[in-house]
Amino acid sequence: MIVVMAPGTAQSDLDSIRVRIEDRGLRAQINTGAERTVIGVMGSIPPDFKDEMELMNGVDEVIIISKPYKLASKEFHPDDTIIKVGDAVIGGPKPVIMAGPCSVEDEEQMVSTAKAVKAAGATVLRGGAFKPRTSPYSFRGMGEDGLKLLQLAKQETGLPIITEVMATADVETVAKYADILQIGARNMQNYNLLDEVGLIGKPVMVKRGLAASYEEWLLAAEYVMAGGNEQVILCERGVRGFETFTRFTLDVAAVPVIKRLSHLPVVADPSHSTGKWYLVTPVALASVAAGAHGLLIEVHPNPDQAKCDGPQSLTFENFDILMEQVNAIASVRKQPVTTG
Ligand code: PEP
Ligand code: MN
Repeated sequence: MIVVMAPGTAQSDLDSIRVRIEDRGLRAQINTGAERTVIGVMGSIPPDFKDEMELMNGVDEVIIISKPYKLASKEFHPDDTIIKVGDAVIGGPKPVIMAGPCSVEDEEQMVSTAKAVKAAGATVLRGGAFKPRTSPYSFRGMGEDGLKLLQLAKQETGLPIITEVMATADVETVAKYADILQIGARNMQNYNLLDEVGLIGKPVMVKRGLAASYEEWLLAAEYVMAGGNEQVILCERGVRGFETFTRFTLDVAAVPVIKRLSHLPVVADPSHSTGKWYLVTPVALASVAAGAHGLLIEVHPNPDQAKCDGPQSLTFENFDILMEQVNAIASVRKQPVTTG
């Protein structure tokens, strides 16, 4: 349920409402918007509570949110969420490009890639130190040593870091180095992990599960937000279809759908969804044209020698070409792409 306050409501009225909500054993989440203050009421709401709230001073309207996700819903938070990390403003009109190798391999690979993607216009550096691999015999990442190399690349370039955390036990360690923690597609429904990253004070990017509906995906974001962490980014990374030529199928409609249902930023990952380097740029352009707030792109100095995901990694040169075209599309799209 959300309680929409009348414009210019007195602080004392807001306080009384919060106290009343808490007296009923519920939780109040106050969201002060540009025009109005909206209070989210969390918990098991008694039948007459809507009527009770409507009678309180300063209340304009009480709305029962029909969606199972509340904090992530547009109804609760009509203004778009903007997340600032380093020079990147995620959720605003300019697409934020997060780029780097699939996995951290060595210092030279990480630092050279960081410099190249920065020069081309990326504002966030990616690189996996804990890698979810289909086969247990594949390279599974360097662990904390990899995080240290990411930190080194950050020192060299100033680029903030996004990196995946796979296990609850690693959240504290990863959060020491990362500016944004990534929840991988395979962990989108790892509820203990979502709870844990809900407790940290850093942005979290939740990738869409391989077969997750929009609602399941938004409920995963809701887990993080219910823990008190409102800095959540969603990433469409392709879903399982019947086609085997591409690795997954990027659902480009997910971008405008999420923008309609939620206030959270939504970015697209054309690398994992296509699995082929020559499909990355076209699918990136489609995502930006559809209104994506950003892109996650795999880039490697020598894709043919990459320890992970070489076939979908762009060379530095191809990343430059992608950036040129993304900037061209971004400059012509009506900002922000409307979903009304
Ligand atoms: C990744 O971004 O490194 C990754 C493993 O992606 P996904 O979880 O989408 O497969
Ligand atoms: Mn990868």
